[in-house]
Amino acid sequence: MNDLAATPIEYLKGVGPQKAQLLHKELGIKTYGDLLFHFPYRYVDRSSFTNINEIQYAENHVLLKGKIDQIRETGKGRYKKLSARFGDETGYIDLVWFQGGKWIKDSLKVNEVYHLFGKPKLYAQKWSIPHPEMTLASGQKARTGFFPLYPSTEKLGAKGLHSKGLEKLISLIIPQIGPAYPETLSSEICTENRLISKKQALIKIHQPNTQNEIQEARIRLKFEELFYLQLELLIRKKLSSSRHKGFIFKEIGTQFNDFYSAHLPFELTGAQKKVIKEIRKDFLSGQHMNRLLQGDVGSGKTLVALMAMLIAIGNKFQSAIMAPTEILANQHCETLKEFTKGMPIRIELLTGSTKKSERTKIHEGLMNGEVDLLVGTHALLEDTVQFKNIGLVVIDEQHRFGVAQRSKMWRKNIQPPHILIMTATPIPRTLAMTFYGDLEVSVIDELPPGRKEIQTVHRYEKNRLQVFKFIETQIEKGRQIYMVFPLIQESEKLDFHNLMDGFEAVSRSFPLPRYKVSIVHGQMKSDEKEFEMQRFIKGETQIMVATTVIEVGVNVPNATVMVIESAERFGLSQLHQLRGRVGRGGEQSYCILMTKVELSKESKKRMSTMVNSNDGFDIAEVDLQLRGPGDLMGTQQSGELDLKISDLRKDGAIVTMAREAARKLINEDPKFQKDQNKRILKTIEFILTSKPDWGKIA
Ligand code: ADP
Ligand code: MG
Repeated sequence: MNDLAATPIEYLKGVGPQKAQLLHKELGIKTYGDLLFHFPYRYVDRSSFTNINEIQYAENHVLLKGKIDQIRETGKGRYKKLSARFGDETGYIDLVWFQGGKWIKDSLKVNEVYHLFGKPKLYAQKWSIPHPEMTLASGQKARTGFFPLYPSTEKLGAKGLHSKGLEKLISLIIPQIGPAYPETLSSEICTENRLISKKQALIKIHQPNTQNEIQEARIRLKFEELFYLQLELLIRKKLSSSRHKGFIFKEIGTQFNDFYSAHLPFELTGAQKKVIKEIRKDFLSGQHMNRLLQGDVGSGKTLVALMAMLIAIGNKFQSAIMAPTEILANQHCETLKEFTKGMPIRIELLTGSTKKSERTKIHEGLMNGEVDLLVGTHALLEDTVQFKNIGLVVIDEQHRFGVAQRSKMWRKNIQPPHILIMTATPIPRTLAMTFYGDLEVSVIDELPPGRKEIQTVHRYEKNRLQVFKFIETQIEKGRQIYMVFPLIQESEKLDFHNLMDGFEAVSRSFPLPRYKVSIVHGQMKSDEKEFEMQRFIKGETQIMVATTVIEVGVNVPNATVMVIESAERFGLSQLHQLRGRVGRGGEQSYCILMTKVELSKESKKRMSTMVNSNDGFDIAEVDLQLRGPGDLMGTQQSGELDLKISDLRKDGAIVTMAREAARKLINEDPKFQKDQNKRILKTIEFILTSKPDWGKIA
């Protein structure tokens, strides 16, 4: 039967070499199998008749039953058209043809019952149906049910291969499918997940009789697609962890113990403890750790990273933590030094602006093993940065680093160091399972105690006076304020102007009393930025005016108000990140989203989501619905998946089912020895050998 799927499409009746070539070029269809996997994007309901007097409520196409009682031709030359009056018990509607007038006129029969199918149009306030499909009710039984609509292209359409033409070709293949189209899932998986057979699914996806059949066919085909994707990820993960041995950190070590008993300023949250245990287990496993740590802003990831690094140090290994910006690297360095004050640990900072003499010293310290913990930006990736014995690399805010950059860290020791990737941009479960299926995932789903929910409001320009009065009362209470402006153009040069224009306009409209202001933007030198940041951190300035350079990671617990100007210009995850800069101390914090009045539907949705939710995972879900996986994960990464029928936005439940089934299979029959699993092995072997091996770098 596989022969059928592999048969070249030009052997199909009515195709031939020319059309075959076009099908290949336009839709990538080369074989019968490809055509069978060219799925309808929508169906037209032809399962029930519509009354003519109900047409105005109908959506799209309608199926009518009635008779023609008049036919007439009007117009001349190009304007010639044919019309007919079609009626049922409830009324009349005009049918119109702009082409093929004579031929149609001759074929139409007056006063005979027709089944008519078409799309009503409102023209000059009157309903009519252009170019309807007519079938005599007395003749062959008119087909009812759900009719498929296929994606096609203009060029194919010109050769008769529009949706209807493709439908016809597919209907020629379907009877040939025969009794035993090869099943690609085991009967166990089909039963457990209530899936119809592959053969049934392929027939029903093209020729369904009911809505339910469409549903069943779709679920089966989506499941299969997602199942093999998940299986592939699981197998690659297994291969890569068995291929790469990992350093074993046997001891908890004196550094960790000392820190835990004498330096830890607060009780760890349950979630932090759980994650540290997970990491500890990896350290003992002998396999290379590749772990993604997800935790909402402010959930205390830095501390978890530090404690993991202390374990590495306690086992005579060095550690490094890499951040996406200099501000953030500086801040990490400060925080880590503060946490470990008085402990015999040497921490160094290496960024693009580290002076040469300083840098030389650090390089030396790394080579002779005196530096225990290196904090830095991607300056760490440079080949000149070599370690005596690095055992753990923490990458903060992962979404800013690419896979290629990550892989560079692998080569910093004979055996790759363990990798812990931290991200504060929660990734919806569906996407995490699909894009990071090859990583272990830890989640911190609990904030440190005593945090008050940030209150978020949406305000307009006309409320500015009120907003500034509010800011004033907060400053008078001793609090500090962030005011963030968007980059209107993606250009560093304009950054500064936008910021200054914005800030001036804002302060002119309501001059704040003479509070001190820090300003940070992308065009400043990093020491200037740092200077301004420090003034704000020390409380010397009350307001921080900035572009999104402060989006990531900055920690000033006394700041309680985040004003986001032109908030409609930011994406959801960015807004959530920005909001996460406040609410880090014990005081009630606020986020004020300033926008113009006229907002797109999507912008409104973003604002209301922010106002209604503080949960990064909920927000990530909405973000996925609004933007789709391509925008969220990067189009290139998304494109690699090449999903034919599944939609990661909507099919989360099926992803989970498929993931579970794949996991179960791998656990219960890891060598695919059961008879019914042999066909799965065959399929997955094909998939694994036909794609490049990402396992080596992920
Ligand atoms: P993020 O996950 O966004 O990187 P941070 O690591 O910056 O969060 O932590 C946010 C703040 O919470 C810091 O000031 C940190 O010291 C504090 N913190 C971390 N863990 C706890 C805890 N268990 N109890 C109280 N405060 C904590
Ligand atoms: Mg952080």
